[in-house]
Amino acid sequence: MKLEATLWLESPLSILRQRGTGNQLETLRHVPGRVWRGAVASEIMRERKLTTETAHRDAVFQELFLAGKVQFGDLRPEGGAPWPLSARECARVDKHETRDLLVKAGLGEDLPQECDWEHLGDRRCEGKLKAPEGFYEWDGLGLKKVEAPVRLTGHTAISYYTLRPREGQFFTCEVLDANLRLEGSIGIEEVSAEAAAELRKTRELYLGRGSTRGLGRARLEVAEGRDGDEEIGERLRRLNALFEAKGKVVFTVTLRSPCLVYDEWLCTRSWLTTGDIEEAAGAPEGFLEGYRLEAWYSRMVTISGWNAQAGLPRGDEAAIAAGAAFLFAKIVEASQRDAEIQRLAGWLGQAERGIGERLEEGCGEAVVCDEFHCRRRVR
Ligand SMILES: [Zn+2]
Repeated sequence: MKLEATLWLESPLSILRQRGTGNQLETLRHVPGRVWRGAVASEIMRERKLTTETAHRDAVFQELFLAGKVQFGDLRPEGGAPWPLSARECARVDKHETRDLLVKAGLGEDLPQECDWEHLGDRRCEGKLKAPEGFYEWDGLGLKKVEAPVRLTGHTAISYYTLRPREGQFFTCEVLDANLRLEGSIGIEEVSAEAAAELRKTRELYLGRGSTRGLGRARLEVAEGRDGDEEIGERLRRLNALFEAKGKVVFTVTLRSPCLVYDEWLCTRSWLTTGDIEEAAGAPEGFLEGYRLEAWYSRMVTISGWNAQAGLPRGDEAAIAAGAAFLFAKIVEASQRDAEIQRLAGWLGQAERGIGERLEEGCGEAVVCDEFHCRRRVR
């Protein structure tokens, strides 16, 4: 079951991109699941009068945070989705159509190097193509960029002795502006009514950096989940219509949050395998046998965190970045085609519950056959 979480920033918020110090601190443009999960946990501990020694014995706390039953998804500005890494936009003119390279690469077509937008009777644009940053939403007509307004705040260090600014110590810190709305989801599996009611409460949270100086105050509201996107079978059929002439059945997986998957040596991988998807979908082993990764756009990011109980930073981990997109394909005889698509539709939707590790912290959020790659007005 899914709940919808909305976070309203009541004061500016800064979630550092990298742990650490420096004179210029950058903020993330979203609130990772692990950040607000920690804030909700500490709020629930305060309300239920739990300490770090007793919390694990509390049945509700146990269910919500220790049993792996609740997934706190990333919260993104206005509920936008991260641009797939396969998207390209014109670097010269904002309005020129954004295109997607994943399906083109899967079809083995030549990939465009420059914008081919043509005004009537005019020459082609020929602007460079670049990967868009941030988030987008689909407003029914086209793709719209979702901006997260940020600004810089400055402060000086104060001398302990003179209580005056210390010379030469001026810092800037980037913040997300107050009044921004961030949205995401909570996935829950079989929790008690009491635990579910606890999750649905509206809460005041303090997140990120500088909460003692008034930064990061936010209101969290939780509502029932809305009906999802178009049915997976429909999305699969539409994507596969493009591959019929090639004799292939394909599906895509597009990540909405960073994803942690490991190889046999426990090193993080920068790509997904069919095994990862089978496991996430709960499908029988060998379900995706014969499927090969034919096109992918991926990069790595570092995710870090804070262990509140130990009062220490958590170790950094490399993860596949949000927006990474993968296309798997298999050669299938024409007579078997429909049955194969039907078979995929039966399981693949379940992989959207999350792929890889640390799902309860919002990692591994994925969309199978994201409409971005085949219906939205991207070529
Ligand atoms: Zn252009």
